[in-house]
Amino acid sequence: MRRIAILGSTGSIGESALDVVRASGGRLAVVALAAGSNWRTLAAQARELRPLLAVVADPGGEQPLRRELAGTGIEVAAGLEGLRRAAAHPEAAIVLSAIVGAAGILPTWEAARAGKTVALANKESLVAAGAAITAAASASGGLILPVDSEHSAIHQLLRDRDPREVRGIVLTASGGPFFRREIDLDAVTPEEALRHPSWSMGAKVTIDSATLMNKGLEVIEAHWLFGLPLERIGVVVHPQSIVHGAVELTDGALLAHLSPPDMRIPIAAALHHPERVELPWQRLDLAALGRLEFFPPDHERFPALRLACEALARGGTAPAVLNAANEVAVQAFLERRLAFSAIPALVAAALARVPAGPAVPGIEEVLAADGAARAAAREALPEFDPPRRS
Ligand code: NAD
Ligand code: MG
Repeated sequence: MRRIAILGSTGSIGESALDVVRASGGRLAVVALAAGSNWRTLAAQARELRPLLAVVADPGGEQPLRRELAGTGIEVAAGLEGLRRAAAHPEAAIVLSAIVGAAGILPTWEAARAGKTVALANKESLVAAGAAITAAASASGGLILPVDSEHSAIHQLLRDRDPREVRGIVLTASGGPFFRREIDLDAVTPEEALRHPSWSMGAKVTIDSATLMNKGLEVIEAHWLFGLPLERIGVVVHPQSIVHGAVELTDGALLAHLSPPDMRIPIAAALHHPERVELPWQRLDLAALGRLEFFPPDHERFPALRLACEALARGGTAPAVLNAANEVAVQAFLERRLAFSAIPALVAAALARVPAGPAVPGIEEVLAADGAARAAAREALPEFDPPRRS
């Protein structure tokens, strides 16, 4: 039996992971669950799955969670200290890192340091702290397995392959809800941006998909996961989200990974790794699909992808700054204080204002850059357009 700690269990990835556990016929068991503030859902999950530890990050959730779990024997903890305990839980072999945003950086680093197999959904942690987290994992003998669908696809395609045969990789992007429409990006609302055409996900990653920042973050994530330079990581828009990634070999062959757009598939691949298991969900019917479409990314309308690539090229703490400023910008857009089209501009402003830091930043330097970028983005916010009412 595999024992797992799930960080971010009440989110979209967390709930999908619990489905994978339920479908595992007892091969997977949960030893720790952690969530942000939703103690009600967390308590229900804990009552069902009986972990040893339940953690709520928001200190205000601790007492209600304790009350809910009284008499169950499940230990309750809170705050960052609680998250760190769940991430390094001695009974956990695998830690699913599925907190959203920079809040996932420290717990992911902690799990890597503790020698865990990290099933990584929280791409922000590798974007911001790729050097520190990969160094921590190699020092401890830990392993990082991607959960992000594109990276899971490429990881599966690269398994046991001689790196000399690989010319490069291709990440597919859905293009988000505004890809094809002649739509005024100054006037789009959070409701429109949250309506993703092919995936059902949390709010932050859904907005990132609409700006293409998500693909930019994923290029940086791929760089750290697969040790490839920027010029060997390609991006293509594929609105159907059936092909998740491809590997181009030296002889011109292109190996692609296809599956239904269901995150439970890459989550199961990571949690059961290296085995593959029978899953009860939807399968692909190629004849019913008929055709697959691909387009180049539109860098004019969606400058966030290029911005992320530039931050990776600049190195140091620039990707941490990009990530933090993007979180501030996405939040401001969701609160209707910033136009959708101004999200990348605000990120660019923060990148221009915060120095790139040391070439190989440690975890403290990453967190300092994250803080500086948030301050710079908040300060710059009034200079940018609020959404235009149409
Ligand atoms: P979500 O918003 O649905 O869930 C986020 C989870 O994190 C929740 O459990 C929440 O309680 C927890 N959380 C939030 N703030 C926290 C904090 N400060 N401390 C502790 N926990 C906190 O997000 P999601 O869509 O499940 O995405 C999670 C991560 O996975 C993100 O990094 C996202 O980019 C990545 N990802 C998601 C998908 C997807 O399909 N949803 C696909 C690929 C990658
Ligand atoms: Mg992805």
